[in-house]
Amino acid sequence: MKNILLLGATGSIGDSVLNVISKNRDLFNLFGISLNKNISKSMKITKEFSPKYVHVNENESLKTNQKNSSNIYLNGDEDLQHLINDQEVDIIVCAISGFAGLKATYMSAQTGKKLLLANKESIVAGGDLILPLAKKHNTEIVPIDSEHNAIFQCLAGESGVEDVKKITITASGGPFLNSSISDLKKVRLQEALNHPNWNMGSKITIDSATLVNKCLELIEARYLFDLDEKYFDLVVHPQSIIHSIVTYLDGSSICQMSSPDMRVPIAHALSDKRRVPINFDSLNFSSLNLSFQEFPLDRMQVQNIAREVCISGSNLGTVFNASNEIAVESFINGLISFDKIYEVIYRTFDINIMSKDISIDSINDIDKQTRIEAKKVVKSFI
Ligand code: NDP
Ligand code: MG
Repeated sequence: MKNILLLGATGSIGDSVLNVISKNRDLFNLFGISLNKNISKSMKITKEFSPKYVHVNENESLKTNQKNSSNIYLNGDEDLQHLINDQEVDIIVCAISGFAGLKATYMSAQTGKKLLLANKESIVAGGDLILPLAKKHNTEIVPIDSEHNAIFQCLAGESGVEDVKKITITASGGPFLNSSISDLKKVRLQEALNHPNWNMGSKITIDSATLVNKCLELIEARYLFDLDEKYFDLVVHPQSIIHSIVTYLDGSSICQMSSPDMRVPIAHALSDKRRVPINFDSLNFSSLNLSFQEFPLDRMQVQNIAREVCISGSNLGTVFNASNEIAVESFINGLISFDKIYEVIYRTFDINIMSKDISIDSINDIDKQTRIEAKKVVKSFI
């Protein structure tokens, strides 16, 4: 029996992890959860899974008023650190959204435990810090992001990445597949949130609609697999059945396929020698119609920024990530139109917020500075 600490339990990935646990109660016990503020959802989770610990980021009062609760409520960074380091925790799942997940990823990377990582933003913003730290502490990072988990599965049994010629990361193209940026000036929030294949949290759904998600994933892959960006191709695959493809030096290409269902990479990441069963939708191969198309030319500027981040490293990823988070938040709040998301990223990236220091304090500092600059750019559009 493995004890699981699920950080970001009340989100979309949280739902999928809980579903896999519920189907494998003999293998997994939900030991602890964390959330930001969605107490009502956390109550449902505690009722069904009875985790020992509940860490609530935004509500200190729960901690002091917990006398009648069968769960132990926690709050603040010190509690989070204790929970992550708890000897009883075997597997940590980091499914917090956005840069807010960096703190937990940073703490988890130093535990020597198995870390299932959904929070790509912590790798984009802090890859140069997190990966060496995980290596130093023998922390095993297993990606949950479907493309990276697919690559992970395609590399199984090989001698690392030595014989890899190319890795192709697939993108669904999102709800605006085949539309150019100039067609997207007037799209409404609900249209951008209406992803054709995946049901996800709002931030990543907008990232998928802009295709910035794929650019974040390029950086994530460069760090997780320790390969130069030139090894990675981004290609649009509207059906989201093939989640990525690894091509070897001998001409073989190995891919991982499944219905678009996050429980598949999660079940794989949770597995230990044996596969973990879930109730999945089988693919009907005789009716499958798979297609591929080029990454749209008018989004190449943002892909090139991601490639620059991969090449230069240091804090450029923090700048890219923070400018995107402010742009997405501003679109969600109705401050800017959809097409301006790109402009906020481009203009903020050009401001040249630089530091070679890759400590956690410096990353937090660069993140703050970038948010201030990105907000100025947003203001210039209002
Ligand atoms: P959601 O928005 O659905 O959930 C986010 C979770 O993080 C919630 O539990 C939320 O708590 C918690 N959270 C938010 N801010 C904070 C904070 N400041 N401190 C502590 N907890 C916080 O996001 P998703 O589940 O969609 O995505 C999670 C991560 O996984 C993202 O990094 C995303 O890119 C990645 N990912 C998601 C996929 C998906 O299918 N959803 C696919 C691949 C990757 P509360 O509910 O209380 O606000
Ligand atoms: Mg993905």
